[in-house]
Amino acid sequence: MKNFLRIMRFGRPYARYAVMNGFHNLLATIFHLASMLLFIPFLRLLLGQTKAVHERPALAWNKASLEQGFNWSLTRLIELHGQLGALGIICIAVVVLFLLKNLFRYLAVRSISNFRNRIVRDLRARLYGKMLELPLSYHNAERKGHLLSVFTNDMQVLEFSVMLSMEMVVREPVAVILFLGTMVTLSPQLTLYSLLLLPVSGLLIGRISRSLKRSSTRVQEKSADLLARTEETLTGMRVVKAFNGEEAMRRRFERENELLMRASIHMMYRQDIASPLSETLGTVVMAAIAFLGGTLVLGPDASLSGDSFLGFIIIFSQLLTPIKGFSQGYSAIVRGSSSAKRVFDLLAVPNTIVEAPEAKPLHAFNDRISFRDVSFAYADKAVLQGINLDVPKGSSVALVGGSGGGKTTLAGLLPRFFDATGGSVSIDGTDVRKLRIHDLRALMGIVTQDSLLFNDTVAANITFGRTGVGDADIRRAAETANALDFIERLPNGFQTTIGDAGNRLSGGQKQRIAIARAVLCDPAILVLDEATSALDTESERLVQDALFKLMKDRTSIVIAHRLSTIQHCDEIIVLDQGKIIERGTHAQLFAANGQYRKLCDLQAFK
Ligand code: ADP
Ligand code: MG
Repeated sequence: MKNFLRIMRFGRPYARYAVMNGFHNLLATIFHLASMLLFIPFLRLLLGQTKAVHERPALAWNKASLEQGFNWSLTRLIELHGQLGALGIICIAVVVLFLLKNLFRYLAVRSISNFRNRIVRDLRARLYGKMLELPLSYHNAERKGHLLSVFTNDMQVLEFSVMLSMEMVVREPVAVILFLGTMVTLSPQLTLYSLLLLPVSGLLIGRISRSLKRSSTRVQEKSADLLARTEETLTGMRVVKAFNGEEAMRRRFERENELLMRASIHMMYRQDIASPLSETLGTVVMAAIAFLGGTLVLGPDASLSGDSFLGFIIIFSQLLTPIKGFSQGYSAIVRGSSSAKRVFDLLAVPNTIVEAPEAKPLHAFNDRISFRDVSFAYADKAVLQGINLDVPKGSSVALVGGSGGGKTTLAGLLPRFFDATGGSVSIDGTDVRKLRIHDLRALMGIVTQDSLLFNDTVAANITFGRTGVGDADIRRAAETANALDFIERLPNGFQTTIGDAGNRLSGGQKQRIAIARAVLCDPAILVLDEATSALDTESERLVQDALFKLMKDRTSIVIAHRLSTIQHCDEIIVLDQGKIIERGTHAQLFAANGQYRKLCDLQAFK
């Protein structure tokens, strides 16, 4: 319930829709009730039991004067239009009342749709904003799944079950109260009887539907298993066929398919028993009420008229619907509560990379980047220790070493993808944590191994994050990145959508588009993280050439697997398990015969 109230807080700006909804629902319920009450004069007319009242009675909210008023109107109707005419008018009135009821119900649905969807839109926007805001250290593969699941599944639960039920838990109690009030007005005694009978049948029906729910959960689980199995098979079809696994897969599938069938049959058995059972039960309750009501009608003091009694029964039969609706809505909210909790937990994750309040602007890079005694840990896993490194302006530094050594992490400290846990990273003597984050990142261009392209045009990918870039500049960037030739051969040139061309672009081509992106922002500092690792020799040559052009006259930090690409760097740093174990130029390190030499020998490279 707490989480439900938190959702409601998001509804504050849209409160007017909720108010409109309540208002329209109230009117709809009243018209519904009135239409049912019209059965009383209808019956009275048919059965010839109209009690003529010729004096207009005083208005008051009690049974006697309501009756009197009612009979008076009916008498007038008959006097004016004859019996049959009055009957016709009542029938038309019923239709009109139902029409009004449904009109207001529709209006209520319209306002609740606005309320719901606006809240969901805001929540979605908040979640997306949160994802963008959270630092890279938060994002990893495992969390990506979680984030996506919150964004899709949990939001869906909120939208379709919680938000939908929200209306019910407000609307249905009002209906119940109005219905009960009318029933009391018609016959307090009979209302009392029904109130005693209702919980008994309610309890039984509740028990049946609970056991139904259990078996339907089982069916859902089983069918999810089956779906997962099918998906796995489709993804792994190459392996299945290559290893002659069809038979084994079929057997496994058949076993699960069998289980699903049994669970489904079981559920249907229960489902099929539920409705006859609850109908029988309903009839028992109805019959009991009918009998008890009958004793009142036929009893010595005839405390209830036959037509009022029938009106009562009609309203009573409608009472179950809102009661059921309420309990369904309530349980949907309770079930959805864990989804709501996940959404709000995510929104509450603090962003650890925040800009200092008095952060300094940074317009240019003049002197050097320095790492002083830098250490870093993800959660409690130490990744970097005692890193001291200077990168003077205009120089290039290479980071090499086995995978998992901390190279990417070290490079990520500079644009504040993460913050050092110890020591400091500074630019021109100012700690990066004291600089405006936007300015800091604007200084850098980053090219990574998996050149990420967005599903947009080639031009939009090159200008990503910037606005108002001229076509000539885009062309020039593409040219520097050795990408112009192949881009011009694409069906729509620079306007080709990546998604359309996605499968036709090779790794090297994608990488060159990513390099053009870096060229265009003309960064003072360049970070290349294994930018050529995923490429074949031919495209590596093109990409490497583009990178050399890009690195010219810039300060760069180059992470490379292939040592041939970094031997000209001014300093080479060998990282192992988060520590610098060797440093120097290629010639020095090669002569020193240490780890670097070993790596060179492994790559048969001198
Ligand atoms: P390299 O780039 O040298 O291969 P990384 O800097 O990517 O190494 O990773 C260094 C270590 O930090 C690895 O052991 C890796 O498992 C761990 N690591 C990397 N990213 C994360 C993360 N987001 N959360 C937790 N651990 C991480
Ligand atoms: Mg890496």
